[in-house]
Amino acid sequence: MSGEQIKEYCGVFGIYDHPQAAQMTNLGLFALQHRGEEAAGICTSDGQNLYLRKGTGLVGEVFNERRLGKLPGQHAIGHVRYSTTGSSNITNAQPHQVNYSRGQVAIAHNGNLVNAQLLRAELEAYGSIFASTMDSEIFVHLMAKPSYRSHEEGVVESVKKVVGAYSLVVLTETQLIAARDPQGFRPLCFGKLGKSYVIASETCAFDLIEADFIREIAPGEVLVIDEKGPRSHFPFQNENTCKAQCVFEHVYFARPDSVIFGDNVALVRERLGRNLAKEQPAKADIVVPVPDSGNYAAMGYANESGIPLAHGFTRNHYIGRTFINPTQADRSLKVKIKLNVIREVVDGKRVVVIDDSIVRGNTAKSRVNLLRKAGAKEVHMRISCPPHISPCYYGIDFPSKTELIASNKSLDEIKTFLEVDSIGYLSIEGMLSATTQAPESFCTACFSEKYPTKVFDVMDKFKLENKLEKI
Ligand code: SF4
Repeated sequence: MSGEQIKEYCGVFGIYDHPQAAQMTNLGLFALQHRGEEAAGICTSDGQNLYLRKGTGLVGEVFNERRLGKLPGQHAIGHVRYSTTGSSNITNAQPHQVNYSRGQVAIAHNGNLVNAQLLRAELEAYGSIFASTMDSEIFVHLMAKPSYRSHEEGVVESVKKVVGAYSLVVLTETQLIAARDPQGFRPLCFGKLGKSYVIASETCAFDLIEADFIREIAPGEVLVIDEKGPRSHFPFQNENTCKAQCVFEHVYFARPDSVIFGDNVALVRERLGRNLAKEQPAKADIVVPVPDSGNYAAMGYANESGIPLAHGFTRNHYIGRTFINPTQADRSLKVKIKLNVIREVVDGKRVVVIDDSIVRGNTAKSRVNLLRKAGAKEVHMRISCPPHISPCYYGIDFPSKTELIASNKSLDEIKTFLEVDSIGYLSIEGMLSATTQAPESFCTACFSEKYPTKVFDVMDKFKLENKLEKI
């Protein structure tokens, strides 16, 4: 995809009452690996104590049987991380575990808080000392307020103070707690495996461990699971909050086999492609997806237009994080290492390329160049979402407005820059109608600049660190 500079952010998993809680969490995280490749962690509880292991790298690099064997207990939470706030170092890996006056607690968080700086400054003014630069740590300090009588009350009260995106799992000695912000920016799902309860960012984690998907955690819900069973709190029910689920999860981030926000992701992507074909038709011989996230939209475009689907790109799946980019200036070499064109498929053809996004435009330009070199007669670029014109403050690492190509160039200028024969994006209406949910239940801020919350401080991932350096 041409949005390859966009990084995923985080995935969370939790399990209550399973004899192999650490092993199940390891599998759950493995299924959620696409949501964060920089660090992974698991914290378990045996009912008395918490045990933590985390490290930088992929799940398979951080954990093996021996290490999992050192995580005893029947309850666990886990996290895979891409650093949307805080640097990619071990201090900022999650779960974040602390001991405080009410006992032990660990937390794992997906999302970004938009009032993190304000809250942190306030907490520090009252004597809180932070161990990391993650905004997630703010929850733990809020929970620690002496007037709360339990971990449970601490979570319910602290979520009222934060603004922004959070899908959380919290582990105490005897409880697993899950919470989702009132807008429901990030997905969070609830399932059952025998007598055990499970929580995961996406349902693909349930499929791997053969758990049943019960339902999504509702926006604004705090779900507490302990020996009494699951029970819910709705701390925002008297407030006038609106849903703002991240529509870009459907377009790009989530795995196609997951069900999030009431829809299967692959089916939504197929409909995005169909809507794109209706809105932005092209005269062409073949429809070529940019793998992997463009695959389902290209299938929809081909089904709707009647133009045959052809896999003109092949992707190298073995690059991983350890791959060292060549230093030479030829950008097309870097692009080719990840994705190569199959000359025999595109040579002499008029090609419609389906991609899920264009961020800066340089990668898309290199791919067009590769197609032309392989003999494509015409290249028509079609994008399965609207142009990205503004940053995301809710956990997605888009570049600043000045770097977003659609924020700075007209459609004609983008066409000229990419050297394509035509270009077309899906409209906001076309994108939203690909889901079965009410259009107003989604966030579209990076396409529309209509932010669903007040943005207190424009977060960038190093902001909290910059602040620390000045102290
Ligand atoms: S701004 Fe864009 S990426 Fe961020 S939550 Fe909203 S729709 Fe998703």
